[in-house]
Amino acid sequence: MKDNVTQAISELKKALGEKKVLTEKEDLYPFSISAMGPWTAMPDAVVNTRSTQDVVKVLEIADRLEVPVIPRGGGSSLTGAVIPTKGGIIIDLSAMRKIKVSVEDGIAEAEAGATIAEVDDECQKYGFFLPPDPASLKVASVGGSLSNCSGGMRGARYGSMKEWVLRIETVLPGGKVVWFGEPLYKYRAGYDFVHLFVGSEGTLGVITKAIFKIMPMPEKIVRILAQFDDMEKAGAAIAEVRRRGLNPLILELLDRSTVEAVKTVFDLDIPVNEALIISDVDGTKAAVEDMAKRVVDTFRECGAIEVEMSSDPEEMERLYAARRGAFAAATRLYPMVVIEDITVPLSKLTEAIKRLKNVKEKYNLKMIILGHAGDGNLHPVIGYDPEVEGEEERAFKAFEETCDIGVDLGGAVSGEHGIGLQKVEPLKKELKAHGGEAILDLMREVKKIFDPKGIMNPGKYGL
Ligand SMILES: Cc1cc2nc3c(=O)[nH]c(=O)nc-3n(C[C@H](O)[C@H](O)[C@H](O)COP(=O)(O)OP(=O)(O)OC[C@H]3O[C@@H](n4cnc5c(N)ncnc54)[C@H](O)[C@@H]3O)c2cc1C
Repeated sequence: MKDNVTQAISELKKALGEKKVLTEKEDLYPFSISAMGPWTAMPDAVVNTRSTQDVVKVLEIADRLEVPVIPRGGGSSLTGAVIPTKGGIIIDLSAMRKIKVSVEDGIAEAEAGATIAEVDDECQKYGFFLPPDPASLKVASVGGSLSNCSGGMRGARYGSMKEWVLRIETVLPGGKVVWFGEPLYKYRAGYDFVHLFVGSEGTLGVITKAIFKIMPMPEKIVRILAQFDDMEKAGAAIAEVRRRGLNPLILELLDRSTVEAVKTVFDLDIPVNEALIISDVDGTKAAVEDMAKRVVDTFRECGAIEVEMSSDPEEMERLYAARRGAFAAATRLYPMVVIEDITVPLSKLTEAIKRLKNVKEKYNLKMIILGHAGDGNLHPVIGYDPEVEGEEERAFKAFEETCDIGVDLGGAVSGEHGIGLQKVEPLKKELKAHGGEAILDLMREVKKIFDPKGIMNPGKYGL
């Protein structure tokens, strides 16, 4: 271990107490990996912070001694964004979980380690909800979801974390505490630093608290499940629903392989066809029936061969089963998976699906195609077996070509999972193709202002 790291650990133990600073190999191991992916690296220490003041101490000591710092929430990153590639100190914020809801102001305040599910549950006690709903919401933390700009099913209507955050408390390298933003739906106050931190993947500082806008729960939700005999027709139906301004709460798309995978693994009674769309429509009791009918009519006009609809909670759960089980089924069926995350303009959705199918055939790989297609975000999951000769290499090529499809169609290599270690090269391609070649250099300059010694989450975004 380098001298500066040994010194930092010794100072941290003195400042915070031995219990909060983990250095034993078996305690560090869980922090050397994240939810998925091939990346692994051991940190030198993990600090369990309990308060903003604890984080201040870590950033004061680490900055002075130039030791890398990696903020970590639930560790559910899919892109290696929490891997301590240069060792250093992981700040584990998972014990900081206080939540406060103000119905009068329509806001919720949460500490960075609270999970998205916990914030949502607290809001629901008051008849409200937090709109962004990553599928990983039971582990995804407030800090991690903001730093990753996470989204979810409800993105079709409500976008991702960036649309809902109003104000954040941060600790910057050196230990300065700065609140950015106001707890208001409307204000003007200098540069928009709140949104600079959203999606920054821990490269600028540590978010310790956040204040969000929240929404009243809808009176009623109707769930629709539509079957299509052609994936491209389903893609066109999604684009048409959006074009007509119907704006459902969720618009999820699943291909035949996805449904078959879920059926095989979980032995469920779900319809199998070339494509399924699951859509939720919400609103007042009076409005929701009319809106649901319009969505159903659109699906039928676009070629749906079977449409079911329900507002009964048990039946709604049945209609949703194929989507809920998709990632779990893929990880059980294939020894290794790469979960992709491209986003394309809605007008290019069917073309993207066509090209993805070509990639699957070209590389002779297992691939399920699903996604939050209502906002153009597709999650093809590539399955491979590293024990089969050449399969890992083919999977990697398929991953690259999938990213290229996003870029080529005027879209993005990531809709919500972020860049981390995984997508540095695809991001460069995207920026170059879309007139943003200077962006990474500008990011480097911005990072120097916040983090002149480069201690914050080194290597992510290639910074
Ligand atoms: C099964 C599965 C399903 C998923 N589904 C979705 C989905 O539907 N939508 C989606 O968007 N994502 C999804 N993800 C990806 C991931 O769960 C989300 O991005 C999640 O929001 C990350 O939260 P986390 O607390 O686990 O972050 P972590 O993995 O702990 O960290 C993510 C990044 O944020 C940084 N960070 C963490 N906390 C802080 C902080 N307090 N201050 C500054 N930086 C910080 C880290 O350094 C890292 O760069 C999924 C992952 C899995 C495993």
